[in-house]
Amino acid sequence: VTIRRQNYLPFPYDIATVRLEFDLDPADTQVRSQLEVRRTGEGPLVLNGEDLELVSVQVDGRDWAGRYQVDGDTLTLDGLGTQARVEIVSRCRPEANSALMGLYVSNGVFFTQCEAEGFRRITWFPDRPDVMSRYSVVLRADKKRFPQLLSNGNLVKQADLADGRHEAHWEDPFPKPCYLFALVAGALTWRESRMRTRSGREVLLQVYSDPGSEGKTQYALESLERAVRWDERRFSLELDLDRFMIVAARDFNMGAMENKGLNIFNAAYVLADPESATDANFSAIEAVIGHEYFHNWTGNRVTCRDWFQLSLKEGLTVFRDQEFTADMMAQGLDAQAAASARTVKRIDDVVTLRAAQFPEDAGPMAHPIRPESYQEIGNFYTATVYEKGAEVIRMQQTLLTPAGFTRGLAEYFRRHDGQAVTCDDFVAAMESVYAQDHPGRDLSVFRRWYSQAGTPRVRVTIEHDAATRRCTVTLAQRCEPVGVERLPGAPAKQPFHIPFAIGLLDAQGRPLPLKQADGHEVRDTALLELTTEHAQWTFENIDARPVPSLLRDFSAPVIVEYDYTDHELALLMRHDGNAFARWEAGQQLATRVILAATRERQEGRPFALHRDFIEAWRSVLTAPGLDAAYRARALTLPSEKTLAEHMAKVDPVALAAVRDETLGALGRALADDWRAAVQANQTPGDYSPDPISAGKRALKNLALATLMAGRVDGATEQALGQYDTARNMTDRLSALSSLVNFGAADASARVLADFYERWQDDPLVVDKWFTLQATARGTTVQTVEGLMTHPAFSLRNPNRARSLVFQFCLNNPYGFHRADGSGYRYWASQVLALDALNPEIAARLARALDRWVRYVPELSEPMRQVLQQVRSHPGLSRNVTEIVSKALEIA
Ligand code: ZN
Repeated sequence: VTIRRQNYLPFPYDIATVRLEFDLDPADTQVRSQLEVRRTGEGPLVLNGEDLELVSVQVDGRDWAGRYQVDGDTLTLDGLGTQARVEIVSRCRPEANSALMGLYVSNGVFFTQCEAEGFRRITWFPDRPDVMSRYSVVLRADKKRFPQLLSNGNLVKQADLADGRHEAHWEDPFPKPCYLFALVAGALTWRESRMRTRSGREVLLQVYSDPGSEGKTQYALESLERAVRWDERRFSLELDLDRFMIVAARDFNMGAMENKGLNIFNAAYVLADPESATDANFSAIEAVIGHEYFHNWTGNRVTCRDWFQLSLKEGLTVFRDQEFTADMMAQGLDAQAAASARTVKRIDDVVTLRAAQFPEDAGPMAHPIRPESYQEIGNFYTATVYEKGAEVIRMQQTLLTPAGFTRGLAEYFRRHDGQAVTCDDFVAAMESVYAQDHPGRDLSVFRRWYSQAGTPRVRVTIEHDAATRRCTVTLAQRCEPVGVERLPGAPAKQPFHIPFAIGLLDAQGRPLPLKQADGHEVRDTALLELTTEHAQWTFENIDARPVPSLLRDFSAPVIVEYDYTDHELALLMRHDGNAFARWEAGQQLATRVILAATRERQEGRPFALHRDFIEAWRSVLTAPGLDAAYRARALTLPSEKTLAEHMAKVDPVALAAVRDETLGALGRALADDWRAAVQANQTPGDYSPDPISAGKRALKNLALATLMAGRVDGATEQALGQYDTARNMTDRLSALSSLVNFGAADASARVLADFYERWQDDPLVVDKWFTLQATARGTTVQTVEGLMTHPAFSLRNPNRARSLVFQFCLNNPYGFHRADGSGYRYWASQVLALDALNPEIAARLARALDRWVRYVPELSEPMRQVLQQVRSHPGLSRNVTEIVSKALEIA
């Protein structure tokens, strides 16, 4: 069944209060739910429920038998008056819940995950975000096994009961949709702090985790404090609760969940210390803690009317966490270093967007950031809704200016605090400010970003007239139909509103002032607003044909087409004053070189790296004045996923081989410079995850990997030495990764065994150990199947499944894309095995093949066969069915 946005109808009842009583038992939990219901429309009361055993239904204290029906996953109550007290008792089996949606047990602790539609696996309820209620919750459980009993809001009462049980009463003062309900019960340790919010209220912040991990929650708690402060300063948004809790779960489907006052996190985004966590882990923790905290306003205080509006909260909250991270990275640095730190963050976000969202936006699952339809909402927690959604918010900030955007956000809360609203409501609030500041203009064209899928392409042409000293820039946009837009009857697509930032450089790379005929002049960056299919802008006083610097800071999520010469790209790499565009020029040059070499390889010609490219890379490696973090990004070759988007038909093995050869050739050609970078970027002293130190480690470890890839003399010894003496996980894991990917087999087996020996008791590090092997050059299906029999492996733990099975299928081109189809048969078997346990996770793995048509025929045909085999499997979940049928039908 397909659910459509246009079919939205309000729910015909209000539910002012919900009282839930849980008698918690891992094998069999009883839930008593009391709802104060008031009729506001027509029809019976229809509630959702899944995998529940219904015990009894009462209305106003009377047994309602005969006046309700259960039909599949709905419970329908007839004959209710205008007001009624509905009481439902049901039972569920948390221990048997391997889907990790609803109430489940992980490591002996009860957790819940309700977004999007998990609450219906806890009790019968209208499981939709526009039904908002005040919750009071009673939790009862054995006191020894479950000493901590947590739920949303404030703890109002605790008492001991007979038989060694105890209870806790929680009240959440804020009305909320059921997807924000949460409970946690178990034996947990915690770390806490108190702070005063800016209006002077004292709040208690707590981070809970399994006993024994108390040494790993300090960074999480500090990150939470920083997030609270940042939202106060940047958007004047204050914490509205007396108590804010974060709990780490070992088994968790996604990253984390913003339940009101009780965030539940994948342990990977909470637990860290220098010995066991990498720089990337520390920065992900700060970002995810910020993200979930920021949801308290953008998601919880103002929530979504229906799940088509998911980007209302997710795109906006990702944008907010990106800005938080950028500010934290820039904090305390001088102006130039701060600007570079912000650029590094922008580069990292764009790299993610291009590797994950651009392919999605061109494939069978393509959807606008506000989808028009879905079969399973769990499949729409996508890079498009999150990352492209954040870009769409960022463009609004660009069009309104940061100050205007802040006013727009304040207007959004003034209008909608306490409501469940739509993306349109958000844009309308922003538009009210935009129209004030730009009389006569509106965001009507801009709104198409919410309704049309696909990545627009902007073709740029430059004409220079030496006689008039004028330069004319023409922008022309187009966007092919993608995904369901390609099915018959889909409406034609219309132009987008694209803010396009541009600079012009002279032949020496100096910035040219941009003066338009109307007298409007900017020093070096002009923001062109393209709202039609094509448009022209003319700049005056330009002596010679300039070199354009295009889409500065990635001002819109589009693909730019401009025919640069190699010489122009090299000029931009050296001189562009916009550090993002400067990075971009290097990426384009590298893309050209690798794609050309891949074609040559396919034609059987030998590999040789062009001198100019080597010199361009040398210039970045040795140029004075660039910080290490930026240099590391600028010297990283584009990922295979990004490169593949530029190929007519993808040959992943050839592409990976050429990328590796390019890396190796750079390692040999610039060996002395890489060695110097290793020496110059040591970080002695106590470990700190700050961006300057992390940047040095990033550059040093890139240098080490490049030397290893080039099999340069002394590299192996260097890597082994670093592995042995490292005092932090970033350096230890980088050394290990270089050895495993580019070192001799015996050395690599030795260090892998040593690593497991040291870290076998730390699940997050064991995940890293599996990932290293899953992605290693040389790993085959047989290797992975062997690792699956390792005692530490389990398909039931999502982090573990991701660390091995997903990493192999998604990030090991050599092993996965074998011409014999063995990788694809392995994929099919794992999708089916996972589907029996956890459909949401299975559907994520299913997506590994959704772009099968993009591959060379020798690979696409075996891919199609396994997709068909999975689709015809009896009892396949709705989640996986949607992915594989779209892959086969929309292609
Ligand atoms: Zn979120």
